[in-house]
Amino acid sequence: MDEWFSAFKAQATPAQLYGFLQHMPKGGDLHHHLTGSGFSHWWWDIATDEAHNGGYRYYTRTLAKLCNGYGTNAYGPMPEHLLFHTVQQSTYNALSDCKKSEYTALSDLTADQQSAFLDSIRLDKPYEGRNEFFETHWQRLGDLTRNPHVQAYLLLKNMQAYQLEQVTYLETQVNVKGMLYPDGSIMQAEQALQTIETMLASQAATDTGVTVRFQYALLRFLPDAEQQLRWIYAFVDAHRDRYVGINFVGREDNDKGYPLRFLPVLRELRQAYPAIALSIHAGEVDEPNHHVRDTLLLGAKRIGHGLNTISDPQTLLLMRHGPYLIEINLISNLLLEYVKDFTEHPFAEYLRTGIPVALSTDDRGMWDSTLTDEFYLAVTRFNLSWQELLALHRNSLQYAFIAEPAKRALIEHWQQQTAVFEQKQITHNTVYHPSQTGQFICRYAPKVCSLATGDKYE
Ligand SMILES: [Zn+2]
Repeated sequence: MDEWFSAFKAQATPAQLYGFLQHMPKGGDLHHHLTGSGFSHWWWDIATDEAHNGGYRYYTRTLAKLCNGYGTNAYGPMPEHLLFHTVQQSTYNALSDCKKSEYTALSDLTADQQSAFLDSIRLDKPYEGRNEFFETHWQRLGDLTRNPHVQAYLLLKNMQAYQLEQVTYLETQVNVKGMLYPDGSIMQAEQALQTIETMLASQAATDTGVTVRFQYALLRFLPDAEQQLRWIYAFVDAHRDRYVGINFVGREDNDKGYPLRFLPVLRELRQAYPAIALSIHAGEVDEPNHHVRDTLLLGAKRIGHGLNTISDPQTLLLMRHGPYLIEINLISNLLLEYVKDFTEHPFAEYLRTGIPVALSTDDRGMWDSTLTDEFYLAVTRFNLSWQELLALHRNSLQYAFIAEPAKRALIEHWQQQTAVFEQKQITHNTVYHPSQTGQFICRYAPKVCSLATGDKYE
């Protein structure tokens, strides 16, 4: 198969290579934020469907006037002129008349406003980057992220999309604290989780064949992050069948969330609870620093991004052939400007010096991308061999936090599927065409889409 793949890479059209990678059995996506993974039209579809979204009605900001009383959200003050900030009916009702006049019900948006709403939560302009993503996308989503029915829908759509990409395991970051009922009262976390569990038990979900586990995400720079972490530990400990780990998120250039801040509280919590696996964002910054080393000291088994490990030789040596995996997100790093282009990306250096790595999608809804896009970029930019491709897939299951024996079953299933896939290629030379492509790849490598005219795209 190694020789077959080398020859195939050399002569396949972009669309054939993409189709092949799409149909390849893949393993898991280990770095996936549920609320960052919804394509704009998924958000739209569920937000405007009161019959399926739990009976919530939404309004979005279409005008910026000089009203008093701008609010705050979990990320800080609301940007004063931010359009397409979305609120539910109960929040809208509590606004002043002046503020109310800035908002329009989603169902009343004009076609132009609707398409601007859709664009407002994806990075689709050349001038949009890190600040647009960190400082406007999440803020805009507003109350939409506080509806468990919306979360359940986004998860189901992801599972269905991953079935088409031959992904069998999804470890996604799902927070359930602070959800709202339609009347604006706070829903208990247990209740919110139950709403999502009901979806996961449905026929539509089990039909996808995708196994799902959750991580709970701590927004690391909050003033009360230690207290939040205590709550998260208790919650994860009480739901170990679904929650298999904890993550720390939030932009790392906000120093208030620096890794060693959490060493005392983690040591306190480790006295009280059996081990909980940690996968923590670290090294997703421009400057060289010791955040990855410090994050390993926190007890992390996996590092999200790990971009600047490349500039920390001692940590790099520590990670070679080690027990720690770096979750690589090529598209995220490019769009958020942590690399100018892929020649600056340390992925190949990590992979080829024995640091365990896997490819993942991060906030794919906001990049309009798929896991296949990540693999296509890896193969075309770094000339991956067949064995390297297999190692990436294997790692994405081997380093998953899902407990045994379910993990063993996933790996065995992937091995069987891979053996069948290889045999089919060698004996039949099957030609695959892309059945679903992200808009990212159509913009970034247009030949993938233009050469496949006649194929159906999403
Ligand atoms: Zn992330």
